[in-house]
Order: sequence, then structure tokens, then C-alpha cells
Amino acid sequence: MAENIDRDATVGSASESPLSLLLQLVLSPSKWDVVTILLVVVLYVAYRSAQKDQSTDAHLYANFIDKMKAKDQKVAIFYGSQTGTAGDFASRLLKDLRRMGISSTLLDPEDHDMKLLSNLKDIEDHLAIFVVATYGEGDPTDNARGLFDFLTEAETDEPIMEGLRFTVFSLGNKTYEHYNLMGRFVDKKMRELGGDLFFRRGEGDDDANIEDDFLAWREEFLDFMREKYNITAEHVGQLREYEQIVHDPAPAYSFIGEPHKLGSFRTQRPPFSNKNPYIGKITAHRELHTGGDRSCMHIELDIKDAKIKYSPGDHVAVQPVNNTRMVEQIGERLNIDLDTIVSLTATEDSCASKVNPFPCPSSYRTILSHYVDICALPRTNFLESMIEYCTEDSDKQELLRVTASGDAGRAAYNDFIRVSGRDVLDVLTALPSLMPPIDLVLEMLPRLQVRYYSISSSLRVCDNSIHITASTHDYITQTGRHGSGVTTSWLRSLQGKVGTDEARIPVYIRKSTLRPPLRCAIPIIMVGPGTGVAPFRAFIQDRHALKESGKMVGETRLYFGCRHKSEDFLYQEEMESYVEKDSLNLRVAYSRDQPEKIYVSDLLNEDGAEVWDLLNRQHAHFYVCGDAKAMAKDVHLMLLKIIQQHGERSLPDAEKFVKSLKQRGHYVVDAWS
Ligand code: NAP
Repeated sequence: MAENIDRDATVGSASESPLSLLLQLVLSPSKWDVVTILLVVVLYVAYRSAQKDQSTDAHLYANFIDKMKAKDQKVAIFYGSQTGTAGDFASRLLKDLRRMGISSTLLDPEDHDMKLLSNLKDIEDHLAIFVVATYGEGDPTDNARGLFDFLTEAETDEPIMEGLRFTVFSLGNKTYEHYNLMGRFVDKKMRELGGDLFFRRGEGDDDANIEDDFLAWREEFLDFMREKYNITAEHVGQLREYEQIVHDPAPAYSFIGEPHKLGSFRTQRPPFSNKNPYIGKITAHRELHTGGDRSCMHIELDIKDAKIKYSPGDHVAVQPVNNTRMVEQIGERLNIDLDTIVSLTATEDSCASKVNPFPCPSSYRTILSHYVDICALPRTNFLESMIEYCTEDSDKQELLRVTASGDAGRAAYNDFIRVSGRDVLDVLTALPSLMPPIDLVLEMLPRLQVRYYSISSSLRVCDNSIHITASTHDYITQTGRHGSGVTTSWLRSLQGKVGTDEARIPVYIRKSTLRPPLRCAIPIIMVGPGTGVAPFRAFIQDRHALKESGKMVGETRLYFGCRHKSEDFLYQEEMESYVEKDSLNLRVAYSRDQPEKIYVSDLLNEDGAEVWDLLNRQHAHFYVCGDAKAMAKDVHLMLLKIIQQHGERSLPDAEKFVKSLKQRGHYVVDAWS
């Protein structure tokens, strides 16, 4: 962020746009100067064109069907992506089809009217491909919400999709209860509406090896397409979606990390959103662990001037910045001047859905720092595109080996990339003769994604601030490489910079389904071991403030778990003070302070009769937050056991009880893996 803020001084603020300068000149004839006016007009045109929305020639066509017809496109690939993987898979399919000469287009459902989908069948040899991820508790991704709503509302007694050929690749994670729900839903609903499942649905499991799952499905799908579309020849070699323009001299305006609108980091104007994040100043940054070698950060962000409102349970999205040293190393390795300003613009025959893959014009430094994920494990299509840039045969052979199709190729890729945890810089280091053009690397790398954290404060208590509770998970790969999350390691690096302009982070609020009951008299049971406690700290603060203001507040019960009382009892003092003030019933499971493990589920079991009474008679709401892999599942099973034992119900009846709690929003899980 330091880089961005320093630049403000030289570029000028967006409030002093060339238009306002022009007005000043026209209104004060003493400064009348034709040359100056012309210059300002030219500058304004450049400024506006850089500010323009980045979706492609949308203004030329009324809708995507018209555009497909005009461009003779047969295949529409819709993607529902939250972290970028589905979007990446979709654009790889687009390139595969382009290589076969099947004209196709990539469509973000958020940008298009899904009611027009059924008109796709008017296009000869059409095909709709849905590459959709399931997010959270079986939800569609944010950008596929419109697609989901449209399909949900479509009446199955009207076969509006009759004759429409489609296929689905769905992405999910087996750790979660609703595995691949979105993809399965799209498949089922499209068929119910008369659609023709042209090729079998594929499924990818992010808990295992989703790249492998995708590659296996893709190989089969492409063979099928070759046969059905009678493909006899295919393009070999590089297919580029974007071409690079180097701006020399540098333009007056260029992006400095803004996700969407040029100048939005220089002049901050509400409302703040994913396209216009607020740059919050870190006012506090401290370690929560009091012992041991692990770390959990407590961070406070000032939102005084932002007019940002949030509710307990909401998430804050943080737009991260890549490691400066790593950016420098990539610049050195590829022998580029990081301050060169460039634009990557869709080529004439590009099928990309955006004019630019990221905000342009930008310097290489900005792109590598803010827009592309340099820590992601490179996928096979990235490695394939690198082959022709190896000058040594041994490097070329290595890339051919790890990108070969079939089981052997997939196993080699797994060893070279996944097991070793190699990122793009590691690949460049492992293959010394590889010297790809930087613009190809930038085109191929996935976009850097925001990271969501449960807000751990309540506005009722922490007016003007957002609190984040984030544990840093450093890891060592099987081959001994050190790794850590992009966002948490960046946040950690800001610890010693509080109070300086560098300690500023772009954020926006994302609404959540995890909410305390509207009527605070309703009791709540919260289960949040480790960092899972974050949203519950907000709940506790909120309900305590309501109680202090004279409201009738029901029981607020927290099941917290940590390894050792003396090490990782997050917010111990604060929690104990709420207990003293009678605002909290706190139960803590110390898992490693005695020979046998004690977990939150064990404490729930001990309190079984009370838990049942709270749920059954007092209509308490039940919340779980934290690890999805084991904890949330174990808690779920324990809940079923408690209902059976203390509610004297059979297992199917206990399951029905839990289902009903969930349907009424009285049992909410916010878990991650
Ligand atoms: P943590 O300190 O790892 O765990 C908190 C407590 O929960 C510990 O006492 C732990 O005990 C206990 N626990 C372990 N398994 C349990 C189970 N099945 N039921 C109940 N309690 C259990 O907590 P954390 O650092 O917040 O991390 C929790 C999990 O979330 C980790 O798996 C971590 O990888 C994941 N995580 C993911 C992200 C992300 O962004 N994806 C971020 C943070 C954390 P023992 O350790 O003694 O078994």
C-alpha cells in the first residue's frame, strides 16, 4: 500500500479530474488558453476511457444471444466462481474449444439476463456449459445467484429448455455437507425443464485433487466434442486472448490496485463494495496467543469516515497485496522493469469476456502485487503454455512430462506442483532456461482473490471500527518448502507499521446468514473453538450492549475450545469479564491440558439435558463456526445424540428435528476447511 499512497501526490486526486480543470478554465476567462483546453480535453478522454467498465462490447449487442448469433458462436460457457477456480476451468475449456475451431464465449451469469438462456437452442449446434462451484452451506457463488434464482423459480410444467443441449462441471468440497449441490441442482433442474444433458456432468472435489478431477472430465469431454462436432484438425501452439500494449510515455492515469474504478483508491467515496473497497487504517494489531509457537492476530480497522454499517455475523472482505520481495524476484527473473505501464487488451478474435483481464493501464508492479495470484499453484494449462519458452531440452521434457495427458501425466503434475507446493517463482527457478514473456505469465495466472474474515466486533460496542481475528497457518510442504496464506502473511507484515500510511487495507462488507436472533430475548448456543469464536465475540458484545441498555436478553452460551489455557485462550480476559457481568455462560474445552482430549462436543454432551431444554422448550438458536473438516461434523453428530438421548427420539426423528431447526434458520453453520 505504501507504493499506492506515495503515488497519490504525483498523479493528483480524482476529484480534480480534467473535467473540473476544464470548467475552471472556461469560467475564468483570464486563464483562457486554447492549447491548455485541448490538452485537458485529450486528458479527459483518456481518463474516461480508462475508467470505462471493463466488460466487452456489451454496448454493441442487446443481449448475449444476439451477440453469439452475430459472432457465429455455438457454445456458451457460464461460470459460477467464488475463489476463481471455476472461472479458471471455464476459460480453459474456452481455449480448448477455440483450438478445435468451435466458436464459443465465456459468460459471467451476473452480467447477463439468464431468462434468455432458453433462446440458446435457436443456435444450430449450440451447447451450454455450466462450470459452477458450490459455496458455503450449499449456496451458489455470488455471481451465480441470478442463475440459481432463475432456475429455482422456473416452473417445471413448462419445458422451456426443451432441446437445449447442456453439460455441467461442478466444483465442491467433500468436507462440507452439501457437496456439489449447485452443480447437481443445475443439472437436475435443466433436465426437469426439458434440457438435454449432452455430456455427463463432472464433479471436482477441492478437498482431494480438483485439478485431477477436472482434467479427467475434460479429456473425456473434449474427445466427445471432437466426435460430435466432427473435428479433424486443431490449432497447435499458443492461443492468446490478450495482447500487450506498452505505454511509453506513461499515461497520466494508471491503476494503483483499485479493483474496478480508476482513482477510487485516491478519492474514497461511499458506498463501499467489492468494486469500490474502503481503505481502512489499522489502528491496533496485536497477538492473541500468550504462549506456544502458533499465532493469531487481533486487528482493528478505523471506519470512522466510511459510513460503513455491519451486523454481528457479517464478513469483512480483505483485498490482499502480494509479497513485495516475491514481486521483485519475478521481475528480476524475467528481466523486466516493474515500473513499465502496460495494458493487456482482448485480441480481435478473443473469446474472453472482459476487454482487460485486470484493470489497465497498470504497471507490472501493480499487476503482480494486486491483481494476479503469484502464490497459486500453477495449473497444467499454465505449464503447457510455458513449454515453447524453454531453451534447454531437459526443461522442455520436464514440462512435457508433467503436462502429459493420462494417469502418468497427472501423477507427475501432482509430484512436481502439488506435493512440492511450487508456485510460479519456484517453477521459474526449477527450470532455469524457461524465459516466458511477462504478458503471457500475467494472462495465464489466476486473479488474486479477496479473503473473507468473520467480523469479531459489534458496532454497538466498537463504534467506528471493524475487528478481525485471524490465525496464521504456516506450513511446510512435503519437500520442505515454507508456505503461508497470502492475506494472513501480508496482514502479519503490517504489525510493526501501525500508525503509518502502509498499515492500510482495502475492505468491504459481505452479508452473512450467521445472525443473532432479531428478538434478543431468545437464548443462543454458540459453538466456536479456535478462530471460530470470531463472530461470536461480536454476538456477545452486541447482546451485552443490549442488556446494558435495559433490553431483556436471553441466555448467551458459548462453547469455546483451545489447546491450552495458558496459550491460545482467545480474548480470555474479555470473555471472563462478560461472565462476571452475567452476560455470558462460558464453557471452555482445553484439548491438551490433560492426558485425554476434551473437545467442545464433549462439553455439549455433559450439558446434554440443558442443551435439549434450551433448544426444545426455550427455542434457542444454535450456531457453529470454525473447522468444517472434523469439528462441525462432530458437533452435528453430538447434537443428534443429545436429541435422541434427552428428547427421547429415534435417530430419524432427531434428524427431522435438526432439519427443521436448519430450515427455520435456528441452526446455522459457518465452517471452513
Ligand atoms: P485450532 O487452534 O486448530 O483448534 C481449536 C481447538 O479445537 C483445539 O483445542 C483443537 O484441539 C480443537 N479441535 C480439534 N478437532 C476438533 C473437533 N473435531 N471437535 C472439536 N474441537 C476440535 O483452531 P484454529 O486455529 O482456529 O483452526 C481450526 C481449523 O480451521 C484448522 O483446521 C485450520 O486449518 C482451519 N482454519 C482455516 C482457515 C482458512 O482460512 N481456511 C483459517 C483458520 C483456520 P487439538 O488441536 O488439540 O486437537
